[in-house]
Amino acid sequence: MSGKAIGTTALDRLRDRLDRTSHVCSSCGYVHSDPSWKAVTTGSQVQYRRTCDSCGAVAQRTYQL
Ligand SMILES: [Zn+2]
Repeated sequence: MSGKAIGTTALDRLRDRLDRTSHVCSSCGYVHSDPSWKAVTTGSQVQYRRTCDSCGAVAQRTYQL
């Protein structure tokens, strides 16, 4: 293996974790059936953001790659 690749495998694993733990909005308690986290990679970190479908609150998670 060579080259610099932020594997989709790693990202998928993180999103998998998010999907399981973050269905519920911490602001209004709305339960998302399919939370759509958006990933933003910033060098060695990956940030996930999700906007609540009900109240519009933005949830954010940051992980080290
Ligand atoms: Zn909400």
